[in-house]
Amino acid sequence: VTSRLPEVGTTIFTTMSALAVQHKAVNLGQGFPDFDCDPALTAAVTEAMQQGHNQYPPMAGAAALREAVAAKIEALYGHRYDATAEITVTAGATQALLTAILAVVQPGEEVIVLDPCYDCYVPSIQMAGAKPVRVQLTPGSFRPDFAAIAAAITPRTRLLLINSPHNPTGTVWTEAEMLQLQDLLAPTNVLLLSDEVYEHMVFDGKKHLSASRFPGLAARAMVVSSFGKTFHVTGWKVGTVAAPAALMAEFRKIHQFNVFTVNTPMQVGLAQYLGNPAPYIELPAFYQAKRDFFRAGLATTRLKPMDCSGTYFQTVDISAVSQLSEADFCAWLTQEIGVAAIPTSAFYGDGFDQSMVRFCFAKQDSTLQLALERLQKL
Ligand code: PMP
Ligand code: GLN
Repeated sequence: VTSRLPEVGTTIFTTMSALAVQHKAVNLGQGFPDFDCDPALTAAVTEAMQQGHNQYPPMAGAAALREAVAAKIEALYGHRYDATAEITVTAGATQALLTAILAVVQPGEEVIVLDPCYDCYVPSIQMAGAKPVRVQLTPGSFRPDFAAIAAAITPRTRLLLINSPHNPTGTVWTEAEMLQLQDLLAPTNVLLLSDEVYEHMVFDGKKHLSASRFPGLAARAMVVSSFGKTFHVTGWKVGTVAAPAALMAEFRKIHQFNVFTVNTPMQVGLAQYLGNPAPYIELPAFYQAKRDFFRAGLATTRLKPMDCSGTYFQTVDISAVSQLSEADFCAWLTQEIGVAAIPTSAFYGDGFDQSMVRFCFAKQDSTLQLALERLQKL
């Protein structure tokens, strides 16, 4: 067959997790917690099943969950979405992102992504028959380069994809940057797809600046989140999209023929759990403690930690330790040292290599400790 995605192989996350299993390495590669979720959450889902919530929910998602999400966004970000017309429950953020792109981008149009970017963005744009336009975040600081973004906008640009807190670099957009983006997009017809899956993992007293906080952005934005990240259930694959009604109507046209809807008991359970006193409130402190534990340990190794203001990822500079490419270093580290990591070159279109690899610290302290002991051998 002729490939729809000729340049695509198996994702780096699958590859590195398989290598980690093969070599019994501590897996700090693929981003997922090695601890379980709150038992109250599994109890809520079990109860939903036992109460008979086992048939199709409405196409847009269980009403109670959409209402809970709208209430959360209003409480945190001050923007009221209509739960009926403006929130949809998705099969994780991955399906949300693809569906959003398919919904608003025509074949031949251009979509701007900011490199390094999460690995599903570009293939999703290609699946829509559109053209990905890669603009680099400022090397080193990974701040948005507004002059470069402005220069990349053409009459064919339909959509800009942003991601804060940012995978893989852990940077968090500032208010000034969000305002600058709002000004930059104001005279254009460019829509915004804002990947906010790490919205509840922001550290050092910083705020998550959701696109929904900024009226000029909210009016053109589809905002994506994922319960997998927030509640330590990456395997559940339940996420959400919030967008103005006209955009959401287009989103749902695709969604209804893409997955139609998402499993009922988890939605009902999540709705009940979200109604409890805001379970996500403790998340920043929880992950900040893990970040600090991991960074303190890294200080006793020859790896140089870069800044990390959000997400559960810590990038490190490996140049004092190895001259290997990031990809070769990660393979070697997994096989010989017993710790798996992700090369950040996998997040660049051209494989740009800057001697920087990513560790996931969503792990029990004992797991992080074991990895750190191994990294001390470097
Ligand atoms: N966007 C980013 C930035 C991510 O890191 C992830 C998870 N790895 C996703 C989207 C996909 O989330 P989900 O597992 O909910 O599909
Ligand atoms: N988002 C996770 C990460 O960045 C991985 C998810 C996946 O394996 N596709 O590590």
